[in-house]
Amino acid sequence: MIIVFKKHISSEAVSKIGTQLSKHKLRFHIFGKEGLIKVFSSHTPIKFTDSITKNPFVKKVVDSPYMLSSIHVGNKNTSSLSQMLDLKVKGPIFMAGPCSVENKSQIVLSAKLAKLSGSHVLRGGAYKPRTSPYEFQGLGVEGLKLMHLAAKKYSLLSISEVLDPRDIEVVNEYIDILQVGTRNMYNYALLKELGKIDKPVLLKRSMNATYKEFLLAAEYILSGGNKKVILCERGIRTFISETRFTLDINAVLFLKKETHLPVVVDPSHATGLASLVRGAAFASISAGADGLLIEMHPKPELSIRDKSQTINSKELI
Ligand code: PEP
Ligand code: MN
Repeated sequence: MIIVFKKHISSEAVSKIGTQLSKHKLRFHIFGKEGLIKVFSSHTPIKFTDSITKNPFVKKVVDSPYMLSSIHVGNKNTSSLSQMLDLKVKGPIFMAGPCSVENKSQIVLSAKLAKLSGSHVLRGGAYKPRTSPYEFQGLGVEGLKLMHLAAKKYSLLSISEVLDPRDIEVVNEYIDILQVGTRNMYNYALLKELGKIDKPVLLKRSMNATYKEFLLAAEYILSGGNKKVILCERGIRTFISETRFTLDINAVLFLKKETHLPVVVDPSHATGLASLVRGAAFASISAGADGLLIEMHPKPELSIRDKSQTINSKELI
């Protein structure tokens, strides 16, 4: 449940309600401008809810499981993607680069091409979640260092995936945006740790997740204190076999309507086909996406991973 207070409530009035909540053994958070809004979880006695609704300082009481991501508690302007990333960009944010960091010349050239084609963020995986343990797992710390070098050289931000809570520290050291992949959306231990850092986290929707599960995963990060969560739709599993996944455009519409968090789409994994990436990207922006995460390689045919969905830099423009 979310209690939205009227503007200009005094901090004394807020503490009074806080005392009432504590008496009923209800957990609560204060966020937004201190004292403006409080949220409490657990079961609330109906009588108590009634009295809260009648409180002259209360604007509305919203029954929502999305305590911190809900549109009712956030401000779209303060959580806009460009503000979150400290960029002065009016339109969508473009994040582009290879699936994996392969070597220095590949990632430096990728950064150059990403910059020339108008991207703001360089993507590249150093820790790769592979279905088979026998396949290329990424360059690890060496890959992070190369990402850092390439992004800095062309004044780009960087984004890279973190798979394991034990790697958060090192990824945080070299990378600007930490990515949680589709296979880790349900890894609550990882999400809790990401709630403790101060860098933006791009949370990919699990290929099997409902919107509720996705948003509650985001709540794990938000409730840990990290407000910089970016939601990413990357396609879901359906009965369609011609494309790798199915891009759920409804998700973009729903998330933009129900939450104040920025929404990014990954048309590369969503389609799995380079020839469909452009159309899926346009559809996503038309639906209201705040940015795109696209796999681009200087020579897609040489990409170690995800070649069939990787575009070249000319197609990025
Ligand atoms: C990726 O972006 O490199 C990736 C592995 O994506 P996903 O987690 O969506 O499969
Ligand atoms: Mn990939």
